[in-house]
Amino acid sequence: MTTPVYENFINGHFLKNQTGDTFAVKNPATDEVIYHVEIADEFIQNAAIESAKQGFAAWSAMTPIERSRILLKAVAILRERNDELAKVEVLDTGKPWQEAECVDVETGADVIEYFAGLAPAQVGQQQMVGNDFYYTRKEPLGICAGIGAWNYPLQIACWKSGPALAAGNAVIFKPSEETPLGAIKLAEIFIEAGVPAGVFNVVQGAAEVGQWLTANPNIEKVSFTGEVGTGKKVMASAAGSLKDVTMELGGKSPLLVFDDADVSQAVSAAMIGNFYTQGEICTNCTRIYVHKNVYQQFIDELKTRTEQNIIAGDPMDPEVNLGALISKKHQELVLGYIDKGIQEGATLLTGGKALSPASAPNGYFVEPTVFVDCKDDMTIVKEEIFGPVMSVLVFDDEDDVIQRANDTHLGLAAGVFTKDIQRAHRVIHQLQAGICWINSYGNSPAEMPVGGYKQSGIGRENGIETLDHYTQTKSIYVGMSNIESPF
Ligand code: NAD
Repeated sequence: MTTPVYENFINGHFLKNQTGDTFAVKNPATDEVIYHVEIADEFIQNAAIESAKQGFAAWSAMTPIERSRILLKAVAILRERNDELAKVEVLDTGKPWQEAECVDVETGADVIEYFAGLAPAQVGQQQMVGNDFYYTRKEPLGICAGIGAWNYPLQIACWKSGPALAAGNAVIFKPSEETPLGAIKLAEIFIEAGVPAGVFNVVQGAAEVGQWLTANPNIEKVSFTGEVGTGKKVMASAAGSLKDVTMELGGKSPLLVFDDADVSQAVSAAMIGNFYTQGEICTNCTRIYVHKNVYQQFIDELKTRTEQNIIAGDPMDPEVNLGALISKKHQELVLGYIDKGIQEGATLLTGGKALSPASAPNGYFVEPTVFVDCKDDMTIVKEEIFGPVMSVLVFDDEDDVIQRANDTHLGLAAGVFTKDIQRAHRVIHQLQAGICWINSYGNSPAEMPVGGYKQSGIGRENGIETLDHYTQTKSIYVGMSNIESPF
């Protein structure tokens, strides 16, 4: 059976490359190639820049209200096509349909809708200075590059293009080479909604295409989602032309469960924050610190619910709530971390092996895995694993656990479970993380800014402030009286 070949999406349509080079994309749940994608060669890269320049000229000349109206049409189409798009995400990522059907498209559409609504309300300042005055304009940056990770491909494309386009920029987006189709679908939807050709372009490929984007002097900003190590390379390369950067990177986030917490609720949060999207979520609370008074109760309930309530299998089956990891290589990496946890003395409470469910025997599954008897200096407690692997640790003292939770170079997210309202805020204010939850975990509405402290990121996505990251301020001084010249 022949599989489709997708070309790059430039200037409003698919464009064939000149080298003929392609790469294959596999369904992680079946290990089968489902389609091929053409790599953006030099011809495509040049065309993308020309296209974005033209797109920018047309788009930035429109009023914010006009842009908003068009983007809201795209939002409506995204919602109408929810199921078709959710299926694309399931086949590309291996995540369960029951998640994609209600989260991936919806949270992407929400963010475009949010920024479409916000853009016309963005205003400059005006201030008198003596008899003269100045005013400011919020102008778009120009061409912005977006580089995406593979865990939420369509959502990431929406989260980057929403504020960028609302502010009047053109975008060249490079999805992860593991999951390239969602961004193509979004590009088609933008055109259908009336976004002018050239405003949103999709280039395909791996690191080399990303490197080209980060080095290209025509590009004013790079918004990157991916690993910390890649983020550093992106920022170093962007420095060559002093591009603005937004960095959404990895995490090793703590969840603190105090002895007055609702333990069942805390177990729910820990399971969502480790097993949702089979553990491939940047904000996951992979270090769970449980107060010694409720530790036994916590791990007993955690073990029972993990062993009884998780259903792995064909991700398109609506009953399945644990999908396949993104690739064979990633599955091996995650299993390698599990081995390391055992070698370093942690105890497996449950899980720990690859899985081969009857409905998806060739998929890259890993059992939901919980380690206990963990120590802060173990590899599994220090490094991001990005799979369904949770480490549980015990604590006794509030100040001590805060210090342990903060003892990392990462700072993406954190959570606290307690019924003591003062402790909840006191503790969360001391945790070094950009995205925090109290008696909750994982929700990330369009209205709420998200991003990392320390090496987990730079800048924010979502929320009002993000629009500022896609505009630059022009100050205009207006003289109202004659210039007193010393010359
Ligand atoms: P990755 O860093 O391997 O790749 C991310 C993207 O960068 C891909 O599109 C890749 O092709 C591209 N790339 C690779 N090398 C590049 C280079 N030298 N220059 C430019 N681009 C390059 O990350 P991944 O494996 O796709 O995603 C998983 C990681 O993403 C995890 O660390 C996770 O925590 C992080 N993540 C963070 C967030 C967030 O919002 N903070 C969200 C999702 C994922």
